[in-house]
Amino acid sequence: MHSIESPLPPFQNVTERDYSKPELVELMEKALVKVKAEFNTFYPLFIDGKDVITAKEITSTNPARPTEVVGRVGCAGKAEAEMAIIAANKALPGWRATAPEKRAEYLMKAADLAEQDRDELSALMVYEVGKNWREADIDVCEGIDFLRFYAQEMIRLGTPTRLGHAAGETNYHFYESKGVAVIISPWNFPWAITLGMAVGAIVTGNTVLLKPATQSPIIAAKFVEIMQRAGLPAGVLNFIPGPGSEIGDYIVEHPNIHMIGFTGSKEIGCRIYRLAANVNPGQAHLKKVISEMGGKNGMIVDKEADIDLAAQSATISAFGFQGQKCSAGSRVIVLEDVYDEFVEKMVACAEKLTIGFTEDLNIYNGPVIDKNAYKSIKNYIEIGKKEGRCVFERDVTHLGDGFFISPTIIADIKPDAVIANEEIFGPVVAIIKVKDIDEAIEVANGTDYALTGGIISNNKETVERVIREFRVGNLYVNRKITGAVVSRQPFGGFKLSGVGSKAGGYDYLNQFMDPRSVCVNENA
Ligand code: NAP
Repeated sequence: MHSIESPLPPFQNVTERDYSKPELVELMEKALVKVKAEFNTFYPLFIDGKDVITAKEITSTNPARPTEVVGRVGCAGKAEAEMAIIAANKALPGWRATAPEKRAEYLMKAADLAEQDRDELSALMVYEVGKNWREADIDVCEGIDFLRFYAQEMIRLGTPTRLGHAAGETNYHFYESKGVAVIISPWNFPWAITLGMAVGAIVTGNTVLLKPATQSPIIAAKFVEIMQRAGLPAGVLNFIPGPGSEIGDYIVEHPNIHMIGFTGSKEIGCRIYRLAANVNPGQAHLKKVISEMGGKNGMIVDKEADIDLAAQSATISAFGFQGQKCSAGSRVIVLEDVYDEFVEKMVACAEKLTIGFTEDLNIYNGPVIDKNAYKSIKNYIEIGKKEGRCVFERDVTHLGDGFFISPTIIADIKPDAVIANEEIFGPVVAIIKVKDIDEAIEVANGTDYALTGGIISNNKETVERVIREFRVGNLYVNRKITGAVVSRQPFGGFKLSGVGSKAGGYDYLNQFMDPRSVCVNENA
């Protein structure tokens, strides 16, 4: 048994870019030009430390200008998935035996490399998924934070713990990696979430198959490149972009996969959870599933509240990145005493939002991710207009054929309405009137999800009660309900928002490992 002194500096969050500084604006402008000049580059699969070219390709386009090709990646089918599973199993014994501090070193190196490229990574997300500058920068910062935080955490968890002091025996406890992990990520935090799940698995000694979302494979390819540049051994990280509908079930059900780390929709997350429960021929283990899914997040506005703060917080929570955050505030639950004032002030806040092409620093809202999302969100808006009163919507037809949808506020929504219960994943918010705080809490808890929530109130007792009774993974008081920061606001929910310990928190890495304990008879 040995003890490890952390060789790493104490964890600190990366400072976000302050774009009021002209020199930082200049850096981002240059990055946008550079990334655009590299459009249409092809990124192959990466298996067992080697590029793998496939006959089929996935084309990634700009949702603001759907004919603009941001880049192309190889497209894995079952044959390539199988190659990746073989490579990951082959690399596993060596990687598992690699000392935790050595594994952490790769992450620290990758964090430095990513920090050097941070503006280009942000610029790529502006084009590939339509983030505005600040949202893209926040995504990049979160990913770099994950690298450094999980590296530090692995040093802590990699130290075996002595248990008790019984005479004549030594007892200790340590962790070992689970095996080969499949990581399946969404497009909405295409850098941070993809990276966070993958490096959580890697640093704990697992080998990985990474399948990013089909809408955002280029930023995922950039992550894989950075890990290559950091010197990660062959077979530890295998990159297999491919349609979930074609290779998803195959990799999830495969007997030589030991765990699945997934973030995405409730529909796919529940499917993975169910399929992974089967013990297939040749499989002598149960699979661990981490499944982080959707939300239908509510913000309560109390009668004793700063209504200006409430309106601003609700607007940012609902419309940041076009409402395409799992943490987005899609229901505002307002006490009747302040309802009319709140609605008026929220509309006034929404009127200040700028919509357009996000390569312009002054634009707040860009497009939604793709045609399917566009159609689904538009359909929900039509349903919402029948269920309530649309108090804010803008004409965005002048923006061309990109997938632009106006921020939309629908008031007078009943708690059982469709748009008050189903995750829309777009810039649509429902405002619900309630008579008192009892009803507000009941409505707030009345969905299948439990991800984020908020309370705007100046009454201490009300705040304390809401903290106790509004049961969500992340609760925010007198502020927006999005924007969790690694280590300060560990992130994740429960109910149908998912199973798993919070990303960026102190329990996160444990999920990727099996605990073992040893008892040595010292009198033998
Ligand atoms: P999605 O449609 O569920 O896709 C997520 C991933 O699953 C993609 O890589 C997708 O691949 C893959 N997939 C599709 N079918 C599959 C199958 N049969 N087996 C295995 N994988 C399969 O979700 P999304 O639209 O990308 O992301 C939006 C959702 O993610 C929202 O519901 C949001 O709330 C949730 N989310 C949750 C969190 C959280 O921390 N709780 C964070 C972010 C997002 P393809 O792209 O190839 O189909």
